Amino acid sequence: MALPPLAAAASSQADRLYSHCCYCSMQCGMDLIRADNEIGWEIKPSQLFPVATGRLCQKGLNALGHVVHPDRLLSPMRRVAPDEHARASWQSASWDHALDDIAARMKAIQQQYGNDAVSVFGGGSLTNEVCYLLGKFARAALRTKHIDYNGRYCMSSAAAAQLRAFGADRGLNAALDEIPKAKYVILAGTNIAECQPTMVPYLLEAKKQGAIIVTIDPRRTMTSKIADIHINLQPGFDSVFASGLMHVILEEGLHDSRYVEAHTSGFADVREAVRAFSPDNVSHYTGIPKEVIRTVARGFAQAETGLIFTARGLEQQVNGVEHTLSYINLCLVTGKIGRPGCGFGPITGQANGQGGREHGQKADQLPGYRLIEDPAARRHVASVWGIDPDELPGKGVSAYELYGKILDGEIKAMIVLGSNPLVSSPNSARVAEALQKLELLVIIDMFATETADYAHWLLPSSSFLEAEGTLTNLEGRVFHRPKAFETPGEALEDYKIIGMLAEKLGRGRYAAYASPEAIFDELRLASAGGIADYGGMSYTRLKEEKGLFWPCPSPDHPGTPRMFENGAFLHADGRAKLHPITPMEPAETTDRDYPFILTTGRLGNHYLSGAQTRRTAALLKKAAVPVAEIHPHAAERILLRPGDRLRLTTRRGSLVFDVKVTADIHPTSVFVPFHWGGEHSINLLTNDALSPISRMPEFKVCAVRLERVGQEA
Ligand code: SF4
Repeated sequence: MALPPLAAAASSQADRLYSHCCYCSMQCGMDLIRADNEIGWEIKPSQLFPVATGRLCQKGLNALGHVVHPDRLLSPMRRVAPDEHARASWQSASWDHALDDIAARMKAIQQQYGNDAVSVFGGGSLTNEVCYLLGKFARAALRTKHIDYNGRYCMSSAAAAQLRAFGADRGLNAALDEIPKAKYVILAGTNIAECQPTMVPYLLEAKKQGAIIVTIDPRRTMTSKIADIHINLQPGFDSVFASGLMHVILEEGLHDSRYVEAHTSGFADVREAVRAFSPDNVSHYTGIPKEVIRTVARGFAQAETGLIFTARGLEQQVNGVEHTLSYINLCLVTGKIGRPGCGFGPITGQANGQGGREHGQKADQLPGYRLIEDPAARRHVASVWGIDPDELPGKGVSAYELYGKILDGEIKAMIVLGSNPLVSSPNSARVAEALQKLELLVIIDMFATETADYAHWLLPSSSFLEAEGTLTNLEGRVFHRPKAFETPGEALEDYKIIGMLAEKLGRGRYAAYASPEAIFDELRLASAGGIADYGGMSYTRLKEEKGLFWPCPSPDHPGTPRMFENGAFLHADGRAKLHPITPMEPAETTDRDYPFILTTGRLGNHYLSGAQTRRTAALLKKAAVPVAEIHPHAAERILLRPGDRLRLTTRRGSLVFDVKVTADIHPTSVFVPFHWGGEHSINLLTNDALSPISRMPEFKVCAVRLERVGQEA
């Protein structure tokens, strides 16, 4: 079916509309301008948003590509293939018919197996309003405890670490405009130049002002090319290296003892924990020269100001929480928190990765970053929702564990909204096996994703340009994104779909809203008094003030761009907690059969599972298929020849990729990007070991065998 032309929502006469990019957590502002081209519109950077003003990267500039793609779902679709496990064959249906059938099947499943037999899987690119509504829909309409989302695969280790250390997880605890004031910046396991490209000018400005930039990564990434020092660290050794830095700082008395004494607890335990991590020992474990360890430790500690940013490189590991805490410790002992040019921050990946984890999509959370098992939190949220606190379900299981529950027979149905778990989950053959077992799988999306191959119903949703709402960027800045275009065909905004389904389930009063603003007004109340307090925000304020930083507890509160000023941490004693870290090995270590380390990550031209960017011609042509990167020493070891491809075999399976030999990767490691499905899906090979604290899967480290696949094969 051909896609109808884009219809401007605000005014059919408008020649210029405003929105925000749908990719990455920078959430750059964009202008949509009428143009004499195939689409009728083009995207230009906007001057209006005070973040990355006037800049867009390639993804942002091409963000219309998927919106007008002919693959867009334009009506509800029902699977009609006689064999449920054959590739899907679909028949269009009316909304009424679709929702009647889905609701009837859900009710029957819940009657037979209990409320928890129906589960919900959300996403980190949805608006705050939809995240909030989805959590409420699961708990109050479906009355199931089983809801989690793909942010579990993204930010959960960083979130757990920040909550443990500071008592709050607000992504960056300083606004981006603090970066140029920093004199020392450590970027650990974060490839900003490819993942958040419009953040790079902030780093370049810092450099111009004299800052030293250090990157720590198993790959010499585009980000490391702007660094003064690059630490080529083997995946899994993050806490070992950070412990070496801490050892030097404490041994040489470079810590800020006044700050430590006044604002932290746990210092003596940290001193003890790093005692054995002398530069000699750390150099022995990591191969990083001891002089370099001393240089970075002294440089960071002695700099007047400094920032540390981390990301998935060190977080997506079974020890990801501990790795993150190691770096938080460094900020705390040197007093580099809560003052200009200082701070810590995990760089959020997904568009609304921050807001997505604040308002109740997580298995253990209620809105406002409240814990679902906290009786006071339950009372507060239940009163906003108009239900008895005892009616609220308890804590469910994490995203990947949902699939285990399906395989165990406990979960029989799933609704997936704005996510493609078949491509983004680790050990994805097991996820496919689980999806296949579901009695009902409903996908709400713009496209028939790889996960949709297992669905019984596809419900067509809106693109980012067709849905109004708020999002929270990597800084904790909440902003309003207007609706620019009408939804095509019979596609609907997510909040309407959820509301209609709740109605069919006989629980409409828990999900019926006239507008996203009405949802936001309730979200404000539900979050008020919580950690992520949006209580003082309103659409009017967000529009007029171009966003507000949480916490913002009252209408006259200016918001909080810089967290933890004067050591005001959110633990009961007002102090930050230092955590002694004992570095541990990854779940899978190398051996004779699997002698290399597989690590995965992003490319600059793609986003998440690629459902949108692989449908954008300008982006796809820059990276059509994943290419494995190996070091020349590894190539030599496996006798790789020009023209060969590379077979990767882990304990979970075997795949063949095109290969690039580059000295930019650690000799022990192979890197493969994760934006593809099917035979290109590296997550068929990744390890599904989970962090015992955050339940984050270990995407970044597993043991792998490499073999050449010659042209003769
Ligand atoms: Fe900005 Fe990120 Fe979009 Fe690029 S992908 S335009 S950096 S929001």
